[in-house]
Parts: sequence; C-alpha cells; structure tokens
Amino acid sequence: MLHELGHGIHDLVSKTQYSLFHGPEGVPVDFGEMPSQMLEYWCWTPSQIKSLSFHYSYMLALWKQQNEGKVQPELQMPDELIEALIKANRFIFGPLFQLDQLHRAYFDMAIHQLCSDDEAESVDLTVLWNKSRKEIGLIDGQEDYTQGHGYTTFIRLMMNDYTAGYYAYLYSKVYAADLFYSEFQNNILDTERVQRYRKCVLESGGSRDGFQNLVDFLGREPSVDAFYNSLLDLLFGGKVTPES
Ligand SMILES: [Zn+2]
Repeated sequence: MLHELGHGIHDLVSKTQYSLFHGPEGVPVDFGEMPSQMLEYWCWTPSQIKSLSFHYSYMLALWKQQNEGKVQPELQMPDELIEALIKANRFIFGPLFQLDQLHRAYFDMAIHQLCSDDEAESVDLTVLWNKSRKEIGLIDGQEDYTQGHGYTTFIRLMMNDYTAGYYAYLYSKVYAADLFYSEFQNNILDTERVQRYRKCVLESGGSRDGFQNLVDFLGREPSVDAFYNSLLDLLFGGKVTPES
C-alpha cells in the first residue's frame, strides 16, 4: 500500500510544464520505482506501523455486537506484533527475494534480446526460466528444467514500459535505500527534510535528470553501500559493523 502511495505522492507533487514529464509516468522506468520503494521503508519503521495501525474495534458498538464477551483489543498494534511483523519482513524481503528479482530481471532482458522469429522459436522458455531461477535465484527445481510455465505468471514481461524494464525495481531500490538510510531513517518525521526531498527529487518529474536531482539532494553521488548494508542487516539482524 505504501509502495503505491509513493507513486501517488510522486504524481501529486510533480510540477512540470509538459505532461509528458509529469510524475512517475514521466521519468525513466529505472528511476520511477525509487519514490515508491523509498516510502515502503517508512511502513517498516516500528513507530510508523504503530501510528498506521487501527483495530476495527474503534467501531465499538458493532464490534461488541459481533464479539460478545470478548475483551476489546488495543486500538493500535501491540509492540510484540510489530516486532514479529518486522522479523517476518526480514525473511520475506531478504536476500533471497532480491535474488528472485534479479532472476526475473535477467529473464526479462533475455527474452527481449531475441532478434528474429527463428531465434525466438529456438528458445525453450521453460528451460530458460527454470535454469536461470536455479542459477540466479538459488531455488531448486526439477533437474532437467523442462516442467512448468513459471514465466506466464509474470505480467511485467509484457506491460507498458516494463517490457525489458523489470530490472528497474532492483536498480531503483539502490537509490531508495541510500536516500532512506542516509537521510530519513533517523529523521522519519522531519518536515523540512521531506519538503527538500519533495522540491529536489519529486517535483521536477522527468523534466530534469533524476540522477542530478539525487546529487543535489544528497550533496554527493548516490552509493550502493546502504543497499548492501540493508541486505547484510536482513541476513544477520541488528547492526552490521564493517568487521562483521
Ligand atoms: Zn511501483
């Protein structure tokens, strides 16, 4: 939900002379998934989960009617549940998830590089999908790679700008991680900083170079360190030191 809200906010605050460059649709695809994935980091911050959560028993009369004799739960999510959710998130969106993204990006690129009907017909898509899934995603399957049609469940292979653009998710996440961890992690509700982000990065849509916008906002070129450190953190939990 926060991911899509990130796209929505990008669209709402964008101010460009030409609609072609407006909001998430107006930026290159490998920049467009940055604001959305950055906002995902917000909802995995304990204080924000707490403030977003709201048990439906706030409609007390209806809740009592449906749950006779039960003790009314807390309105906001209890801390233990928040902690458990964050642990589950570490597992679900940890390094294996990122390898799966890499596998999908690879497959997407591979099928869009076929130059002729003959070349396309010579490729066994099932084998290509299963083999790269094993080699890149590290997920075991059948030995000969000939079963199933996993790629048919992957809609972005043939969707708008995402045709040969699935790599954009992983690529943009590197920027998102750098922005979040270096600017917002410890300043989650810093209005001045958020306004600066809005003006420097979001407002111009695709009418300015996205990379230059990031340099202006960060005061330096973006780095991959935050993304790699976040993976190490997901793997080992807690803070990772250079030595570890
Ligand atoms: Zn998105």
